[in-house]
Amino acid sequence: MEYFIDVVLPIPLEKLFTYSINQIEADNLVPGMRVAVPFGKSKIYTGLVHRVHNEAPQAYEAKEIDRILDEQPIVNPFQLKHWQWIAEYYMCTFGEVFRSAVPSAFLLESETLILLNTEAVIVDSALEDDEFLVFEALQHQSSLKVHEVSSIVDRKNILPVLNRLIEKNVILLKEEIYEQYKPKLVKYVQLGKEYLSEEKLETLLSDLTRAPKQSQVVLALFQLQAVSKKPIKVTELEQESGASKAVIKALVNKQILEEYFIRKDRVDYEGDGGDEEVKSLNEFQEKALSDIHKGFEDKKPVLLHGVTSSGKTEVYVKLIEDCINKGKQALYLLPEIALTTQLIGRLQEYFGEKVSVYHSKYNVQERVEVWNNVLHQKSKAQVVIGARSSLFLPFSKLGLIIIDEEHEGSFKQFDPAPRYHARDAAIVLGNLHGSQILLGSATPSIESYLNAKTGKYGLAEIKRRFGNVLMPEIELVDLKEQSRKKRMKGHFSERLFLEIEDALREGEQIILFQNRRGYAPIVECTTCGVSPQCPNCDVSLTYHQYKKQLRCHYCGYHTALPESCQACGSPTLDTKGFGTEQVEKELETLFPDAKTWRMDLDTTRGKHGYEKIITAFEQQEIDILVGTQMLTKGLDFRNVSLVGIMNADSLLNFPDYRAHERCFQLLTQVAGRAGRTQKRGKVIVQSYNPYHQILTQMSTNDYEGMFKEQLYEREQYKYPPRNRIIKITFKHKDYNRLNEAAEWFAKGLRNSLAGNVLGPEYPPVARIRNQYLKNILVKIPKSTSIGGVKKGIKRLEKSFNAIAPYRSVRIIYNVDHV
Ligand code: ADP
Ligand code: ZN
Ligand code: ZN
Repeated sequence: MEYFIDVVLPIPLEKLFTYSINQIEADNLVPGMRVAVPFGKSKIYTGLVHRVHNEAPQAYEAKEIDRILDEQPIVNPFQLKHWQWIAEYYMCTFGEVFRSAVPSAFLLESETLILLNTEAVIVDSALEDDEFLVFEALQHQSSLKVHEVSSIVDRKNILPVLNRLIEKNVILLKEEIYEQYKPKLVKYVQLGKEYLSEEKLETLLSDLTRAPKQSQVVLALFQLQAVSKKPIKVTELEQESGASKAVIKALVNKQILEEYFIRKDRVDYEGDGGDEEVKSLNEFQEKALSDIHKGFEDKKPVLLHGVTSSGKTEVYVKLIEDCINKGKQALYLLPEIALTTQLIGRLQEYFGEKVSVYHSKYNVQERVEVWNNVLHQKSKAQVVIGARSSLFLPFSKLGLIIIDEEHEGSFKQFDPAPRYHARDAAIVLGNLHGSQILLGSATPSIESYLNAKTGKYGLAEIKRRFGNVLMPEIELVDLKEQSRKKRMKGHFSERLFLEIEDALREGEQIILFQNRRGYAPIVECTTCGVSPQCPNCDVSLTYHQYKKQLRCHYCGYHTALPESCQACGSPTLDTKGFGTEQVEKELETLFPDAKTWRMDLDTTRGKHGYEKIITAFEQQEIDILVGTQMLTKGLDFRNVSLVGIMNADSLLNFPDYRAHERCFQLLTQVAGRAGRTQKRGKVIVQSYNPYHQILTQMSTNDYEGMFKEQLYEREQYKYPPRNRIIKITFKHKDYNRLNEAAEWFAKGLRNSLAGNVLGPEYPPVARIRNQYLKNILVKIPKSTSIGGVKKGIKRLEKSFNAIAPYRSVRIIYNVDHV
């Protein structure tokens, strides 16, 4: 009998690849284990076993696997099913899902090793100098890595040397795979076994009288041991004895001390929380909770629509508590930017070390540990709080999924594939596990709210803020009128200026929101009207005053601000529009005594950049915080009484069918940061268009009104939620070829889908990093099978790729594009 396995490779292949295995391997392998397999000419990949069987592949001769990498599966059957669904639904390959789903340390990479060819007879004089250096090094070391060779010959490009050595039969190359994950080991010390008896010890101490430093170390070790039975870290001993590493090392060398290692999780929770009593809910929260349970009993996902600061988080806490009391795992999904230490800290107060965190700021080692803890159902990963990728963790007893801020567009992965929507994929995952699923938001997405209205989801609501705190008072300010009456100070209307003055006088804090970073989005010559463009993208460069630079926010290109216009030579460059940096600058002159800080992509780089600003603001070291949408999410500041929205128009004028919904959500969320305690908060919204429907709805908290109007418009123009959409993007560096290719594809689509195909059209930024872009939008009525449409598109892609000049045009599918 022959044995085979189908393997998922972490690359975009349409099909799984089949390898042959022997009977012993067949007895050991089960789906979800990793194997190292050869692929192509010399590559070795980490693959995932999908199926073990006896059917030889028809189209090729199955190769043998290189080796088995796991004793037990690291991926479970729930995941395999879920990933398969993601690949099919979002039109990508299983391999792409696999690659993005597991921590990269699981995808062992192959590395080229250089070995001496022991069979060859080598004459030293036949070797050139650099060749000889490598040859000589291989006399002392059995193998060399590429970077080692590089430092031996002291040069980056070592391919010529290696090629010559191969021709001369001196060396062999070998692909070796290596493990990236290394468990963290902590070094401890204890007294050498020999000195455990009192008698020996006394002699030791008297021997050491001539080495006072060493005897100090030994005494310190005693002291530490007397206080606690815990193992003693080398660093602790250093501190306690005041001796240097060298002294301790000397004692180890004399075998008076012994070093040993203990494996330690990087993701250990060090705090002492976990004993905080879960708060008892008020009547509105209780009502919501019982509605949630009703929905769960009907086996439906439930949408919790609760205004900002209504106590949704405390309701989640109740559900999580129930879930873990039943011995099940809970997943708390949040958009990346809302994952703050504030919220994590709050959950840890209740659940202590049962809480694990999983997101992109975690390094790969930490991710592996969380993965393994979930896989082995460790109690320290019973509650996972994480960003969208935590959907891929190896849950086996998932009792509850909470999707907080469910309306957030950033739940949709944009690049690379799989371009999945974490909320939707989470619902599918929850259904596979039979888990309870709760979606929460103060401003639900139109699609979720519609699902709740039509009974597909359950609905629970909290319409009041917790503790009778009033919703903030929202005032719209007409910038047109203010300018006409000369009431503007820079970008501040008189109203906003006076309110800031007031708040500062009262010692309260202020948040100012502007959705652009940098100083000004456009620099323009007032003589000839030309504005500097990015050489790689079709977009104007943004001016950053702090560095006197023009920067591209799409590709990172930057250049110094020119002294004069590069088109006409006039020194008449002026800025148009404004970003967070300019707001901050103006505050410095308007309120010189206030402490002002800025929070945007430019000030929050680095692992703790974001946290530092939040902590400083919490501790009231900052009076005014200016920021982009980063400051809208998941933050609870006690002392903020005023929120200013510098310019609402830039949000309204987006060429996107969701712009109005998004504007409503964003402004409501920012406004929700104001007045979270007894004093009623105030929000000032500046706009040239204060009578815009969306602004009126936002200022009167009219979510229903916004929902009805948006739903009507979407229906008129055949957009989601009544229709589905697939955006197809074409990408190529040659403008003409791209146009021709996209046109061809659109024509093919129209043959079967007729009026439901829009485009091809250029996106607002039609070239990024020197690649031209064109989009086709396919609208699919809910009555049509989306599966059928996708198959049709895939078939068309095959014919497309058969046309030689089109083959190099990249096609990107974005299903349910948001
Ligand atoms: P949301 O998540 O809806 O924005 P939060 O859960 O953050 O609201 O609640 C707002 C504030 O009210 C928080 O400071 C929270 O601790 C407090 N709070 C909410 N519910 C309760 C409760 N049942 N008992 C005591 N305090 C509560
Ligand atoms: Zn000019
Ligand atoms: Zn650019």
